[in-house]
Amino acid sequence: MEKETMVTLAHGAGGKKTSELIERVFRAHFENPNLTADDAAVLEAPKGRIAMTTDGFIVSPAFFPGGNIGKLSICGTVNDLACMGAEPLYLTCSFIIEEGFPMEKLEQIVASMAKTAKEAGVRIVAGDTKVAGKGQADGVFITTTGIGVLREDVNLSGAYAKPGDAVLVTGDIGRHGCTILLEREELGIEAEVTSDCAPLAGLVDAMLGVTKEIHVIRDATRGGVGTVLSEIAKESGVHVRIESEALPLHPAVKGVTGLLGLDPLYLANEGTMVVILPKEQAEAVLAVLHRTKYGEQAAIIGEVTEGDRAQVVLTTEIGAEVQLSQPGGELLPRIC
Ligand code: MG
Repeated sequence: MEKETMVTLAHGAGGKKTSELIERVFRAHFENPNLTADDAAVLEAPKGRIAMTTDGFIVSPAFFPGGNIGKLSICGTVNDLACMGAEPLYLTCSFIIEEGFPMEKLEQIVASMAKTAKEAGVRIVAGDTKVAGKGQADGVFITTTGIGVLREDVNLSGAYAKPGDAVLVTGDIGRHGCTILLEREELGIEAEVTSDCAPLAGLVDAMLGVTKEIHVIRDATRGGVGTVLSEIAKESGVHVRIESEALPLHPAVKGVTGLLGLDPLYLANEGTMVVILPKEQAEAVLAVLHRTKYGEQAAIIGEVTEGDRAQVVLTTEIGAEVQLSQPGGELLPRIC
């Protein structure tokens, strides 16, 4: 069997070439007892409540420092399940591949997905591949859907932030957005920035091991921490106050955003979450976060207070108070 270097329309036609692609690329990496050749995966139903989510990934470029679209497609869905306090169990993935996409790159993407799924403790149990004609898609698009089982006694929602809560971030902010920006735009800036893209189910597990009283966990993806806080303030009907000086920033992100006049609060993260919980438990959760693989830079950045209007207020380094607004337009398209 000669090894093909590119994905062709025949690979998506459902015949022999499709079987070859599935065997050689997908099954080779995703192999697990739940992944069969049948029409649907047959799974044991978990007891209790389940969480389910889906997300499409169209990031450009598909490969970037710190990850690629494959890793991102697993992290995004695993992290959304984790945000609800669910333990991710199963994932499905659907690929739209542009004709002519290099087979070697597809293999790298699939290998990253397998590696990340393994780290996150999820199984890829079903998948689909379609090949689009040249120009009808850009490289590769991936959609993942995930199911997780909810822990008992855990009730998380963007609507549950309360006055008296502390606001945490689990890592330094804006790194994914900054990385994609530098990769894409020819800005002539050399900076050592890598995406924070990471599966955070373990980190959430560690936090919930400290207390089940966490009110909100939300991954600060598109729109960044600023947008997520605005959403939470609105959903919970509360004031959120954050301190500019408390925001953990990688020095390179600080440099790049300073140079370009960008606000890291509005740059995407793919491995950083906003966490809101009663103040009394914040220090204990923070201490545990600092011991996790992806939580070393975690910090308490502010608090939730009473207010007659839902809003987020930032205290700047010189002590001024600025009301954060939700950005209207698309800051940076095709970031995830
Ligand atoms: Mg999310």
